[in-house]
Order: sequence, then C-alpha cells, then structure tokens
Amino acid sequence: MSVQENPAALIAAAEAHSAHNYHPLPVVLSSGRGAWVTDVTGRRYLDLLAGYSALNFGHGHPRLIAEAKAQLTRLTLTSRAFHHERFAPFVTELAELCGKDMVLPMNTGAEAVETAVKTARKWGYRVRGVPAGRARIVVAANNFHGRTTTLVGFSTDPDAYEDHGPFTPGFTVVPFGDLAAMEAALADDAEGEVVAVLLEPIQGEAGVVVPPADYLPGVRRLTAERGVLLMADEIQSGLGRTGRTFACEHENVVPDVYILGKALGGGVLPVSAVVASSEVLGVQRPGEHGSTFGGNPLACAVGLEVVTMLREGEIQARSARLGERLHEELGKLVGEGVLTEVRGRGLWAGLDLAPGLGTGREVATKLLERGLLVKDTHGSTLRIAPPLVIEEEDLDWALTQLREVLVG
Ligand SMILES: *Cc1c(COP(=O)(O)O)cnc(C)c1O
Repeated sequence: MSVQENPAALIAAAEAHSAHNYHPLPVVLSSGRGAWVTDVTGRRYLDLLAGYSALNFGHGHPRLIAEAKAQLTRLTLTSRAFHHERFAPFVTELAELCGKDMVLPMNTGAEAVETAVKTARKWGYRVRGVPAGRARIVVAANNFHGRTTTLVGFSTDPDAYEDHGPFTPGFTVVPFGDLAAMEAALADDAEGEVVAVLLEPIQGEAGVVVPPADYLPGVRRLTAERGVLLMADEIQSGLGRTGRTFACEHENVVPDVYILGKALGGGVLPVSAVVASSEVLGVQRPGEHGSTFGGNPLACAVGLEVVTMLREGEIQARSARLGERLHEELGKLVGEGVLTEVRGRGLWAGLDLAPGLGTGREVATKLLERGLLVKDTHGSTLRIAPPLVIEEEDLDWALTQLREVLVG
C-alpha cells in the first residue's frame, strides 16, 4: 500500500501538519457519487451528514457538475468591478425563489451572516433613524451562525467563544423557542435600538432543535409590530432540507431577510447570499461592502442550477416523503428506550442517545465500522442529514444498521 492509499499514514500526516480545530472520524475519503462515498482503500460508506447540508443534492450531481465544468473553461472570476453574463440570471432567479427583490452574494455562510448584521445596522441608522452606534440585534441562545469574531461573540457555546475575545457589542441573547422572553426583550427597548432579530428557524448545530409551533409566527408578529427586521439564518435548514424550500414555510412565516449558504453552492464551491427587499439591501451603496469572490461566474453558474432544481420542487418533496419514513423509524427507537428524544423535519434529525449507550462519538465510530458516516454533536446527540437524493432502500439499510448498533 503506498502512502497515498494508507489511511493511517494520511491521518498521521494530517494530525502533524494541520491545526486540530476538527476531530474527524478515522476515514480518508477519495470519491463520491450521490449519497455514497469511497475511501482510499476502496471501501464504500453511506454519507448521513451531507457536508452539514451543503450536499443536499448529493456528491457529484450530474447537472451541477455539468454547469461547473462548462463554466470552468469559460470564465471563473471577474470580481464585481465588471458585470459578467452569469450574474443577472442567478440573482434574478434566487430573488424570485425567495419572493424578494434583491440579492447580495457572498461565499461562506459566516460572511452572509456578517453581511446581514451589517445591513440590518445600516438599515436601522439610515431608514429607522436609530441614533449612531446604538443598533442592537436580538439573537437566540445555543445559536450557530458561523466562526467570525463578531458571530462567536454572541455564541453561548464556550468552545466557540472562549479566548477569542474581545467581541463586538450590540447583541442581546434570549432563550430559543421562548416567545415570552422574546416579547420581553423587544419591549425592553424604549429607545427603539433593536433593529433585527436573527434566528435559525431550526437550530442545526444545537442538535436539530425545532421551536414550538407558535414561536416563529409569534416572533414574526412581534417584529412586524415594532418595525424590527426578522432575519432567518436558513444556511442549514433551507434549500430543501426540511421538506420545504425554507424551514420558515412550515409555519407560514416570511422573514424580512433570508440568509443562505451551504447547499446554495451544491457542495461544489462556497456560495452564500443575503436575500431581502430593496428597502433593506438597498442601503448598501458602492464601496460600502463587498467580496472579491462573491457572485463570481462559477458560483453563479452552480448557484443558478441549484435554484433551478429547487424551483422544480422534486428535492423538497423527496425530503418530505423520505423524512416521514426516517422519523417513523426513529420514533420506534424512542419507544424502545434507546433514544430519549428525536427532533427534526424532513430528512433531518437530531437523536439523543439514552444513557448507557456510550457517547455520540462512540456510536458514530460503530456506525463507521458498518459503513455509515454520521456525526455526533454535544456529547450524546447524533445528527442525521443524508443527501436528499438518497435512495429509499439505502435509507432503510442505514436505519437497520442504526437499530442493530443501538438495540443489538
Ligand atoms: C454552517 C452554518 C453557518 C456558517 O456557514 P460557513 O459556510 O461554515 O461559514 C451559519 N449558520 C448556520 C445556521 C449554519 O449551519
């Protein structure tokens, strides 16, 4: 076995020469198609993480790869100093998908959230007349919005924020899913300094936490009454994951600002965006915000194909249909006492392991040995989020493996 094919040697070299800001499971992948990936020894695994939902359309989706390949040999970068032919179709179609009229494209999810934060503040000063330097944004406990200094500054996870400060002021944290707490935070704003509420409609990294049914509609009503923007971070929950285009749709809630990323780049390259009305995004004037790679031709080509597939609606329907099957089977495991709780919507689930079954990492390692890629989070929670293109029999096989590991 050459070093290139020897997983232990590759893992040792990665450990020696890269920062340990991740703790990957011991598998070295080399190719992928649909919901399946292959490691350097030729062993196949079913991917139940899908790049944290960046791979909603699976590995190597033929339509996305065809668009990317065609664009690669034509034009890949212009910077926004010039127009390019792929830009207008992408922003037009994405705005339409969201029912809004403006898009500001960026690259990573964290950049899109930063863009939303800056835009909400500027909107507050220029449109709402908030006194200079006083704008505040209300966020939820257990949030995950990305890794920049500003964003981890209002994280409640010590792993994310400890020893990374000092942080950006101007954020108020309230418990997630608690409408009374949100109402109190908005009422406690005599000077009208709160410009926005920033939320994940379903909290992904926290363990796929779905708020009570009246929460998002309640927050929508409260923010509308007070002229505060509702900004939905749908980077992980959006673009088909929950069985709808947006998780907010399940409660018939339309936010003022959509923050998108992950699957928008089809698992091919980082593509993110803030989508809103021209009243909101129109506050950004030339030179006031930007990104060298944001909205590049390659990103627009892939992003447009993602939007086109979402407008066809099949991927959402598939997630809803297979998601019912997933949650039905996981519900049985709760009934049998090996899981204490299952949360989620569509092909997206957070599973809390019953005490005595080992840590999430231990169970994920057992699943890996059986050919399943699953990621643990917060000690005893497993997250299941397969590519939405997964075949029904593959999902059934995965559920059988999970049952055998948990029940025996
Ligand atoms: C992943 C994620 C982000 C950050 O995206 P990056 O591309 O990793 O910067 C932000 N918000 C949510 C809800 C996410 O899941």
